[in-house]
Amino acid sequence: MKIITTPDKRLRESSEKVRQIDDEILGIISDMRKLSVDWESKHPYELSAAMAAPQMGVNKRIIIIRDDMEDKNNAHFTALINPEVTKTEGKTVTDYEGCLSVPKIYGMVPRPFKVRVKAKLEDGKEVRIKATGELARTLLHEIDHLNGILFIDHIKDKADAFYYMDDKGELKPIKDYKKEIRDNAKLWGEE
Ligand SMILES: [Zn+2]
Repeated sequence: MKIITTPDKRLRESSEKVRQIDDEILGIISDMRKLSVDWESKHPYELSAAMAAPQMGVNKRIIIIRDDMEDKNNAHFTALINPEVTKTEGKTVTDYEGCLSVPKIYGMVPRPFKVRVKAKLEDGKEVRIKATGELARTLLHEIDHLNGILFIDHIKDKADAFYYMDDKGELKPIKDYKKEIRDNAKLWGEE
């Protein structure tokens, strides 16, 4: 199992619903947790906040979300199965987003401030989540993955919207994004 990156076509597929939470599904969730922790150990400046199953090439509607996004020592992730956005509210807020499957690139992405999500937990119980701010952003980003959508798709005005992470973990603006896309077409998912 490994994290796949653009332009892998599996990132662009719509994922199928989980019908039954069986050993196969629990195994996938366990692999996702392992991969997130493993990715983080190789990226000293970044936190693995969440992940969707298609990011390891499994097109099933499963995401995991880190319980504490501030604490690198708490690597506990909650799995959400068949998550659905039932409502978005509030004003649109634009903030940084990155993705394990779009290496090194960060972008300023507009998202609604509030979201309501319903999903199932690993034990089959249904949960309803009301989230704001960063958690709302993370939920929307991950649920997008289940529909084949990447954060770069939401950036309409690409000038001044993209950043890359340098070797010291600092985000630097990408000045000439058109050239950057040309030079790194694969990374950006453009073929
Ligand atoms: Zn992502």
